[in-house]
Amino acid sequence: MCNLLRVRWTITPAIPPQPWLVCAGCGVRRPFRCSGKARLNANGRRLDAWLIYKCPVCDKSWNRPLFERRPVQDISPDMLAALQANNPIWIRRQAFDLAALRSHAFDIEECAEIEIAKQVLNRPDGWSILHVELVVDLPAGIRLDRLLARELGLSRARLQSLRRWERLRLEPGRSDALRKRVTDGTGIMLDLACEPNRQMIGDAASGHSRP
Ligand SMILES: [Zn+2]
Repeated sequence: MCNLLRVRWTITPAIPPQPWLVCAGCGVRRPFRCSGKARLNANGRRLDAWLIYKCPVCDKSWNRPLFERRPVQDISPDMLAALQANNPIWIRRQAFDLAALRSHAFDIEECAEIEIAKQVLNRPDGWSILHVELVVDLPAGIRLDRLLARELGLSRARLQSLRRWERLRLEPGRSDALRKRVTDGTGIMLDLACEPNRQMIGDAASGHSRP
């Protein structure tokens, strides 16, 4: 379509989810931070591995089990190498594994702070419809309507009314998707033909200026 401004937003959460735990050092319940380090321990032919979290005040550690008493032969060579080298990419992926963290901590705080890289895929002259494609590799704790409002300079009420008039469409098109957290692969189609601020919104979507 030649009236389509197509952009891609790659969203990266700033910090991993933090479990709220009673600290064994200072005795107070606090959000523990992932240290970015893992620990591996051998027990004969079996291995234990933990991800290390720290109390933000007294630095006391909390070890989140990654696996326990697992036979060496059941661990993939890639995982073993990542653990031995404290591979930051692998560790970051574990730190963002919310389901695994939930099995060890009841109360988890997710940071809404994110970084966005905006890329223009196609910007024809005379475009009137904005299409935003989301790339979300790690879980990000921000709602879709908050993201769009902030990044496009539109109020959330305005987004709701655009949605009602079917000038805002989502793929997949779940009715409550605006109020849900952002997910990988979501497409947002915004018909701005009647919008006087179209160029400004387009610039904001393209990362050329802030609204
Ligand atoms: Zn502490």
